[in-house]
Amino acid sequence: MPINRTAPTDEELAWQETALCAQTGPDFFFPDPGASTREAKRLCAACEGREACLEYALTHDERFGVWGGLSEKERYALRRQER
Ligand code: SF4
Repeated sequence: MPINRTAPTDEELAWQETALCAQTGPDFFFPDPGASTREAKRLCAACEGREACLEYALTHDERFGVWGGLSEKERYALRRQER
């Protein structure tokens, strides 16, 4: 999946309208280094926008936090598999 460095369109961000993380705040999703991501991933698993969120994070090369149920290390590993 090629990286897109342009500003996202409203259509690309439509998944944010149902984002569960918008209701909880960013603390779970951007934990301190070494802190657990379990709670964030639990919410992501129940989030309607999970697939679109993950696709957005991969496409826009989001480097920090949990997106679409994957940590930054997991997204990095996924990107390496796709090469
Ligand atoms: S999948 Fe997770 S990070 Fe993405 S919008 Fe849903 S709750 Fe937020």
